[in-house]
Amino acid sequence: MSHSASSRVQEFIGDPFAEKSLLPQEKLEEIFTDIQSDLRFDHELNGCLNCGICTATCPAAHYYDFSPREIVQLLWTENLDGIYDAMQEKIWACAQCYTCAARCPFGNSPGGLIMILRETAIKHGMESAKNVLRPFSRVMLKLISTGNQLSPDMINPEHFADWGPNISKVDAPLKLLRKAIPMPTLNTTETAWEVNLKTSVELYTIWEETGVLDQLETVDENLFDVIIDIVDEKKEDWEDWKDEQDDDD
Ligand code: SF4
Ligand code: SF4
Repeated sequence: MSHSASSRVQEFIGDPFAEKSLLPQEKLEEIFTDIQSDLRFDHELNGCLNCGICTATCPAAHYYDFSPREIVQLLWTENLDGIYDAMQEKIWACAQCYTCAARCPFGNSPGGLIMILRETAIKHGMESAKNVLRPFSRVMLKLISTGNQLSPDMINPEHFADWGPNISKVDAPLKLLRKAIPMPTLNTTETAWEVNLKTSVELYTIWEETGVLDQLETVDENLFDVIIDIVDEKKEDWEDWKDEQDDDD
């Protein structure tokens, strides 16, 4: 079949990967340059046989309109419109289980490539990233302010029906039980464990240096403002604590 014949066929049936986005070409190129320049990109994309093994073994592909093969093909063929289109919804279906990476005969990591696409969507403040991350703002706030994602007092038995009979343990006298744990950092129900000030400040430094806090500002400015206040306050507490130690010496 000649190239022109296949183009006519494609024109007739449409190309599911090449829907034109409304973004200018320069913006699409900027997004793709960001994806390609990620240090992991070359390691996770070595070529693609289009064999579909990744999709056949992907749990998310069984439940959603999603195919890791399609995502890898878009990247491999540098289909900028298709990549942008996939970043609006499909990339968020991946469960990050990396079954695909273990199976790909080319040594690709479709799950790893999807992670790069997600991070790029966040960096560019795409609406899809904001919508996906919005329900996690409470978790983010908890994580930043306490160093924990989940604490015993956040567990409502009604929300964990899948725990079966084990859920009765949540109704137990948690405060008393936690006090009985030998490690004092676990004698609380407000956090899963107590993270000390120094560790918190070290975590903030990592998040600042790696651009995590900048990304947070891109997707949720209000949450960013609240979190920055907490970060500043804890940093001040840490400096005060160090000053106190110096005075004692
Ligand atoms: S990414 Fe690997 S497993 Fe998936 S279609 Fe390409 S070569 Fe096959
Ligand atoms: S990492 Fe994502 S794409 Fe790969 S198999 Fe798991 S759910 Fe599918």
